[in-house]
Amino acid sequence: MSDTACVFCKIASREIPAEILHVTETVMAFRDLNPQAPTHLLLIPREHIESLEQVTDAHAGVLADLVQAATHLAKTEGLDEGWRLVSNVGPAGGQTVYHLHFHMLGGRQMTWPPG
Ligand code: 5GP
Ligand code: ZN
Repeated sequence: MSDTACVFCKIASREIPAEILHVTETVMAFRDLNPQAPTHLLLIPREHIESLEQVTDAHAGVLADLVQAATHLAKTEGLDEGWRLVSNVGPAGGQTVYHLHFHMLGGRQMTWPPG
């Protein structure tokens, strides 16, 4: 399932370009256009899901695949000191693209709390 107006669906279907680092049957990872850290990747399900709020039991497998992709990419990106995985949900969460994604950030010291 995809949404023809969705920018991440367009990246998943290669309709618009992105620096894609990792693709499996279910997930994809590419570099964020506006990086907030030396490594800033976006991990998405290839299927259109709006946000974590739309996740159901049927998505258990793809969520596990996203986490597995993150640990794989931490190695290939050399993030030996640590990294951060975050998903913004809804307007107050700071979500701007309504296709579920995890930001994977690393390569610098992260601060807490986030803004
Ligand atoms: P959100 O604000 O929804 O949590 O994150 C959306 C992210 O998508 C932002 O960090 C933004 O820079 C990134 N982004 C938006 N459009 C594009 C695009 O066309 N290509 C890529 N690679 N990243 C995008
Ligand atoms: Zn989408």
